[in-house]
Amino acid sequence: MYDYIIVGAGSAGCVLANRLSADPSKRVCLLEAGPRDTNPLIHMPLGIALLSNSKKLNWAFQTAPQQHLNERSLFWPRGKTLGGSSSINAMVYIRGHEEDYQAWEQAGGEYWGWKRAFALFKKLEHNQRFDKSNYHGTDGELAVSDLKDLNPLSKSFVQAGMEAKISFNGDFNGAHQEGVGFYQVTQKHGQRWSSARAFLHDVINRPNLDIITEAHATKVLFEDRKAVGVSYIQKNMHQQVKTTDSGEVILSLGAVNTPQLLMLSGVGAAAELKEHGIALVHDLPEVGKNLQDHLDITLMCAANSRAPIGVAFSFIPRGLVGLFSYIFKRKGFLTSNVAESGGFVKSSPERDRPNLQFHFLPTYLKDHGRKIAVGYGYTLHICDLLPKSRGRIGLKSANPMDDPLIDPNYLSDPEDIKTMIAGIKIGRAIFDAPSMAKHFKREIVPGPAVTSDDEIVADIRSRAETIYHPVGTCRMGKDPASVVDPCLQVRGLRNIRVVDASIMPNLVAGNTNAPTIMIAENAAEIIMRKVDMTSLDASIGFARQNLEPELL
Ligand SMILES: Cc1cc2nc3c(=O)[nH]c(=O)nc-3n(C[C@H](O)[C@H](O)[C@H](O)COP(=O)(O)OP(=O)(O)OC[C@H]3O[C@@H](n4cnc5c(N)ncnc54)[C@H](O)[C@@H]3O)c2cc1C
Repeated sequence: MYDYIIVGAGSAGCVLANRLSADPSKRVCLLEAGPRDTNPLIHMPLGIALLSNSKKLNWAFQTAPQQHLNERSLFWPRGKTLGGSSSINAMVYIRGHEEDYQAWEQAGGEYWGWKRAFALFKKLEHNQRFDKSNYHGTDGELAVSDLKDLNPLSKSFVQAGMEAKISFNGDFNGAHQEGVGFYQVTQKHGQRWSSARAFLHDVINRPNLDIITEAHATKVLFEDRKAVGVSYIQKNMHQQVKTTDSGEVILSLGAVNTPQLLMLSGVGAAAELKEHGIALVHDLPEVGKNLQDHLDITLMCAANSRAPIGVAFSFIPRGLVGLFSYIFKRKGFLTSNVAESGGFVKSSPERDRPNLQFHFLPTYLKDHGRKIAVGYGYTLHICDLLPKSRGRIGLKSANPMDDPLIDPNYLSDPEDIKTMIAGIKIGRAIFDAPSMAKHFKREIVPGPAVTSDDEIVADIRSRAETIYHPVGTCRMGKDPASVVDPCLQVRGLRNIRVVDASIMPNLVAGNTNAPTIMIAENAAEIIMRKVDMTSLDASIGFARQNLEPELL
């Protein structure tokens, strides 16, 4: 019998496990489908290049064929181990834009606004360079550092951006977001600082915290409309964990699996559940809807020197030096997150804030790292930061071991492709500037033949991929149609919350790991009633003591 059963030990789940088990009187269970995070490739930053191919540590989903991407089905990696996607991600530390959180505040009230988010980001952070006087925190568990080893091409990219009239930004999480610069990363002493490293490892032996790995949750158990436990499969055995009478089930399976588990448990659009023969617990049509993601297109060039991180016989000596440097000093190119520099720019000058993000990689990256690209080159990832297209997560079947249906519906809004065309043009302008031109040998993709808008559109439709930021599938809001209320309680049900990237009402303009960790910290304070509940109750429009389903 647990006071809290947290399902999913990802970016959000690890924070919750830490905070909720800090009270020794509460018994906490953390269920995770993947194994413990012992694989050294997780902790060595450049190991990211090999984690895409792992079937053990990565859910490796495929989307439904995408109508506006030539019916292609896209690869969607998601982490499957302690730390979840923060154990396989690119470690870029970005909070998003203040206006993103103004929209959250409109959706969910003051506890989700920028003022609160900013305070929590600072509380959670241990920044190696910046301090409290300039927008950052130094006392939190989440280590944020500069990269230890910057490839010369990453520096050239930033220089070239300035030559292309984009200002330099020394801190994308500081006074403003716009400009080119170097990313700070969630790393400590040259190693990945996943949510598990930051929040779980130090508390793993707490007597009131049980961590059950390789446990695939299959269903939330309900009595009437009250969540009372979770069933899961571990080593082909069906098992159950139960809550105490006032205990809670907290879903932190991420934006793909949380709506799937809700639907498998009878919570979702009644018609869809009926189609799959699932008994209805509560008709909540928006479960799985409102899926948003950052679609990404690349510019990839061959380099005229051996400066990039290469895949070639001639790279072996540098590779060996790098390996020893990493093993003995935690330095060298193996500490690279690959996406070393980048920027935030506007697709046109009249826009009031950046709507494009660049990630520059001083290497080739083909098919998410699943294919080896031999030689020396560099890649610019260009993503549409504020997409208008909306998709959904659905069910393919009622079998919990099947992947869900993932339909991001990319480019269904015509505005989105216009942003991406502008992104390719700005990216090429940066590559043409002297500091990058000096490295240029030839453009591999889109290639020199692709110049007109029509050709660029055709190229985007044939090649665009995810940059891994799905959110929004259990939208939080004050309105009755939202999936969770501002306390993150699932509407119409008792003793069950969602706490992960799926609650974001709108996608933030940036990478989503830090915002998800912040969501979990906020949720923990709400669950433990460390915040002013009167104000929260007022913001959600009902008194907590009257928490009847019909009022939710
Ligand atoms: C390849 C990649 C690169 C990325 N790069 C960056 C980056 O550089 N910077 C950044 O900020 N963000 C990045 N992101 C995004 C960021 O990591 C995610 O937004 C964030 O980790 C989401 O956190 P979450 O808690 O919602 O889900 P997750 O961290 O994905 O956690 C969900 C957990 O639930 C578990 N789970 C799922 N289903 C079940 C089940 N049925 N039973 C039990 N457990 C289950 C999963 O195994 C996982 O551990 C990247 C993501 C990926 C995949």
